Amino acid sequence: MTRPADALDHWLLPQLREREQAGLYRSCSVYKGYDGSAGTSAQGRRETILCGNDYLGLATDPRLVRAFEACAQREGSGSGAAHLVSGHRAEHEALEADLAAFTGRPAALFFSTGYMANLGALQALLGRGALVAEDRLNHASLLDAVRLAGARSLRYRHADAAHLGERLEEGARLVVTDGVFSMDGDVAPLAEAAALCRKHGATLVVDDAHGLGVLGPDGRGSLAEADVDWADAPVLVGTLGKAFGAFGAFVSGSAALVEALRQFARTYIYTTAPPPGLAAAAREALRIAREEKWRRERVLSLAQRFRDEARSRGLPLGGGSTLTPIQPVLVGGSATALAWSRVLEEHGLRVTAIRPPTVPEGTARLRVSLTARHGEADIDRLITGLCEAARRYPVETVV
Ligand SMILES: *Cc1c(COP(=O)(O)O)cnc(C)c1O
Repeated sequence: MTRPADALDHWLLPQLREREQAGLYRSCSVYKGYDGSAGTSAQGRRETILCGNDYLGLATDPRLVRAFEACAQREGSGSGAAHLVSGHRAEHEALEADLAAFTGRPAALFFSTGYMANLGALQALLGRGALVAEDRLNHASLLDAVRLAGARSLRYRHADAAHLGERLEEGARLVVTDGVFSMDGDVAPLAEAAALCRKHGATLVVDDAHGLGVLGPDGRGSLAEADVDWADAPVLVGTLGKAFGAFGAFVSGSAALVEALRQFARTYIYTTAPPPGLAAAAREALRIAREEKWRRERVLSLAQRFRDEARSRGLPLGGGSTLTPIQPVLVGGSATALAWSRVLEEHGLRVTAIRPPTVPEGTARLRVSLTARHGEADIDRLITGLCEAARRYPVETVV
């Protein structure tokens, strides 16, 4: 008799094999001792990590760690309940006030992750069958959120405001876009999108997971950089696990928006409130991000150095005209991307290969991303490694 566990494995194993044969298998590398720019691999090798999202180098900042620890000493490791039950602590409340102030909006709501924030916000704002325009290269959590809300998605060509305009003519009532695109490192045409939404009476939702902390005056993000008033982009989603070096996420906007999400966003309501220590660390990060402008300047000057060097060597660089810490190198096929990643590993450099379905077929890439803790020497080693990879494994035509 076949045991149910064996029957389940029998069904799963061929699917895993198929994925592996397509060059799409993924696995976790185990690191310890991350210090803001490097970590020690399971083989005991020190590797410079050039693919994380710790843009300002805050994830290992002792001030965040101390805030986290001190709060855990007072409040414990877990919140013990959902926000609306008894898990909402003074530190959560204070973080929400700080997030509202940081983003220049009346209110903010703290979610456990960016994925949950997007799912919750769009489910709360969209009725079944509602028409939504979304950039075709939006982050997976946004694409999933629209689908799970049961809305009808009208995708527009990447960062193409004219095509977005057509989608609005077709009746889209909500427009959803990344601020800085997570896998491409370019910036959405936010001023044009905001003007189109205003003209059509549509609501603009911006997920600025990669812009907040990095772009705009005081690191206020890509909307601030594009000089878009908050009332023209009424729903802002941000994460705390990237530039802010902590964990969690938020939605900020009007008091009514935040109150509606508190009442209707299921991913806020039916889940345990994050550890209060995280909120304490995130508050410290917001303060530091505002005050230590050199971190933004540093990561962007490293990105500029990388771009200049990569261009001059003819490396297939993606990205847009606005400088961001995300600098994709487009190699085409999944096998080639894996081969490039292995060459870099031989140089003690970690840049994970990003393959479909995270990015479209034929656009596998090395998503290089920099932090304020990297040095010029890291960039130079990266360029050397990439040039060797390009010689050994020529780039395929990107479709
Ligand atoms: C990383 C990311 C998310 C998810 O945020 P988490 O807090 O990591 O769950 C959402 N949107 C975008 C654009 C992202 O890059």
